[in-house]
Amino acid sequence: LLKADNIHKYFGSNHVLRGVDLEVRKGQVQCVIGPSGSGKSTLLRCLNFLERPDQGYVYLDGEPIGYAWSGNELREMRPAGLARQRERMGMVFQSFNLFAHLSALDNVKLAPRLVNGISEGVARQQAADLLAAVGLQGKEDHKPAQLSGGQQQRVAIARALAMKPEVMLFDEPTSALDPELVGDVLDVMRGLADDGMTMVIVTHEMSFAADVADQVVFMDEGNVVEAGTPEDIFSRSSHPRTVSFLSRVL
Ligand code: ATP
Ligand code: MG
Repeated sequence: LLKADNIHKYFGSNHVLRGVDLEVRKGQVQCVIGPSGSGKSTLLRCLNFLERPDQGYVYLDGEPIGYAWSGNELREMRPAGLARQRERMGMVFQSFNLFAHLSALDNVKLAPRLVNGISEGVARQQAADLLAAVGLQGKEDHKPAQLSGGQQQRVAIARALAMKPEVMLFDEPTSALDPELVGDVLDVMRGLADDGMTMVIVTHEMSFAADVADQVVFMDEGNVVEAGTPEDIFSRSSHPRTVSFLSRVL
């Protein structure tokens, strides 16, 4: 469903991604782990073209993200085309990024209403259903500031789901949360995994990764060092960089 092919990214002279390959099949949950600064967020942002790779392409269902064929050459896509591709990928950030002046319900229904032009009544009902699905029934009219961090993050997940994405990208969705709020958010993500949602999750929650991931991807210094089942990475890895990282975080 989603494939990154030899992605390179530079920030100035800093070579942040050094030829990353990643393949995510439909229904698969991939957890990306690795030290701070290894390029995890940059990779995730390249997947939906929030960052433009300097080399390499990302394909969604075989279609290159951010580019369109013109004759037999690839040309950078116009914003409208890119926006349509991005709608197929939901993204959830560490810092929630909700609209502060809008209620939970309005945050969730905004994009379907604006982009898909569905009616107010249908959009409201859909948004209310999504909020209920993430355990926020009764919080529809709360503004973000009136919600806990964990509740805000669940609104952000509901908002991303509202566009019915084919794949969800999560960048450390729980690392800004107080420990007692982490579980509720992970439970929502576990539920999505059980429902068959395709997901790429950058996380420091190793036990969660071990529990839900079909594949764990270990990144270090802009490379994928190893990828495999949770057992391959957490129990059987003999790669020195993986072993050293795990000994520091487990
Ligand atoms: P963390 O676990 O701390 O979130 P990460 O693995 O997500 O780390 P990235 O955020 O991808 O790492 O950063 C990789 C490198 O790229 C770092 O050296 C960082 O300083 C650099 N970097 C990231 N974004 C930018 C940017 N917009 N401009 C310049 N440098 C950047
Ligand atoms: Mg990061």
